[in-house]
Amino acid sequence: MSSITATPVTSVPACPSWCTKPDGHEYDMEAAVARNESRFHRYEYDELLFGECTMFVSIAAWELRSTITGRRIIHPAAVCLELDSIAPLANLSADEAQTLTDQLHTAAVMVDRIGGMA
Ligand SMILES: [Zn+2]
Repeated sequence: MSSITATPVTSVPACPSWCTKPDGHEYDMEAAVARNESRFHRYEYDELLFGECTMFVSIAAWELRSTITGRRIIHPAAVCLELDSIAPLANLSADEAQTLTDQLHTAAVMVDRIGGMA
């Protein structure tokens, strides 16, 4: 009777060309315990400051990899909007609203351009 011994995958493959994180950034080690590991590829725009609230617009794609087979799945890229505050974003001036709109539009165009592929 023979058995198959898996060799753990340890190398870190290159990022998609649009990812602005350091090439070969690491996978999440906590997820590796479950024989899968993950990482986010991200393209970050400048942070926006509205009053006391900082907002980040980015493009991100989640990658999942089997630590046993090395098979990778990179989910379609999407626009992400994050706030550093639990307070609602309110009372934007016209200029602030335009700045936010411009960044979201630029991010949407980029997601369309990369076609949701990594
Ligand atoms: Zn990356």
